[in-house]
Amino acid sequence: MGDPIATGTTNAELFERAQRVIPGGVNSPVRAFGSVGGTPYFVARGEGAQVTDVEGRTYVDLVQSYGAVIAGHAHPAVVEALRTAAAEGTSFGAPTPGEVLLAEAIAERVPSCERVRMVNSGTEATMSAIRVARGATGRPKLCKFAGNYHGHSDGLLVSGGTAMASLGLPASAGVTDSAVADTVVAPYNVVPTLDETFAAVIVEPVAANMGLVPPAPGFLEGLRAECDRVGALLIFDEVITGFRVARGGAQQRFGVRPDLTAFGKIIGGGLPVGAFGGRADVMDNLAPLGPVYQAGTLSGNPLATAAGLAVLDLLDDDAYALIESRAERLAAAFEAALAAEGVAAVVPRVGTLLGLHFGAEPATDYTTATTTDEARYGAFFHAMLDHGVAMAPGAYEVMFPGLAHTDDVLDAVVAAVQVAARAVAG
Ligand SMILES: *Cc1c(COP(=O)(O)O)cnc(C)c1O
Repeated sequence: MGDPIATGTTNAELFERAQRVIPGGVNSPVRAFGSVGGTPYFVARGEGAQVTDVEGRTYVDLVQSYGAVIAGHAHPAVVEALRTAAAEGTSFGAPTPGEVLLAEAIAERVPSCERVRMVNSGTEATMSAIRVARGATGRPKLCKFAGNYHGHSDGLLVSGGTAMASLGLPASAGVTDSAVADTVVAPYNVVPTLDETFAAVIVEPVAANMGLVPPAPGFLEGLRAECDRVGALLIFDEVITGFRVARGGAQQRFGVRPDLTAFGKIIGGGLPVGAFGGRADVMDNLAPLGPVYQAGTLSGNPLATAAGLAVLDLLDDDAYALIESRAERLAAAFEAALAAEGVAAVVPRVGTLLGLHFGAEPATDYTTATTTDEARYGAFFHAMLDHGVAMAPGAYEVMFPGLAHTDDVLDAVVAAVQVAARAVAG
């Protein structure tokens, strides 16, 4: 056991202590403030739209656990569901009713998911979806898109956007050439030409890890048609967009039905979770029914399913309309403030998801996304933080307004945006 964290410990002291025992002081690279500079704030607690750091400073939080939280921090319904579930035992290694309920809730909202399997992260969800796609088709190759992020499994760590974009790493050390030999990278928003060696195409239906890049008209439909032409499976990575851009995710919003879908983030209500689902004839290749092995000691965990169900219960069509109207207000405020100061910026929005691109033209792919002015983002980020608003510490992340971002909260954000826009002008 380490020494307890004393009252009055500063962020700097804690970061120093963290760096002695955790590589870079963080458990996920973007949290280290590497691309914006400065010392990360250590969150002591969160409530609704706000987080409070160990120094007692409170921020309006637009990060919301990178989209894992949509109802706000410590939502009473989630806390109550967790309290009840925890008192009944946290893991059994036997099936539990909550898993059935969550799988049913997903299948009801996302009709392409005739079968659903729970895992523990978005990384596991995409990794397992690809394995079952390869197992079902008996084919090796996978097509992914530059700047799309699908988690950190070996075969997907090529041109993955975000943290990797900020770090300037095209891939990762420790990933062998053979691990990515069957992964073909194509430019986003252009339908690639496939052949019969492809098991699947995996895509973020709305790219949200290279800033926010909406799908061009016809792109998702084109992928569906090209996959059908060669008998490849279409996998939507809806780890961010699922239960966020519509009740039925991006596939509902854009009217394109994938064969398989990966989920994460929202469906765990802020607990570690993931899921993948899709066509029964494909998913039934999974063990114990079929030859594709996939398993997990903590998969379908009672705490995670309880939190996920509590959150999904809050998300009816009215909830999405409400969050979308807030996102619209935020987008307009960012655009107006930055334009008023003569700062070249585009604020793309799809439903409740918002990006911020420091450049004159909207990004359409990885090449154009990475023209954003990262230094300006860093300056803007710090100006916002100084005025009580926490954005993600990376130029390629998006903003996640949710149920807790009420008009009063947004008023404070809009005021900060005006000051920050002035700070980065010129
Ligand atoms: C976050 C994310 C993942 C990975 O999920 P983890 O839970 O971090 O493993 C995969 N795909 C997309 C689109 C994501 O945004």
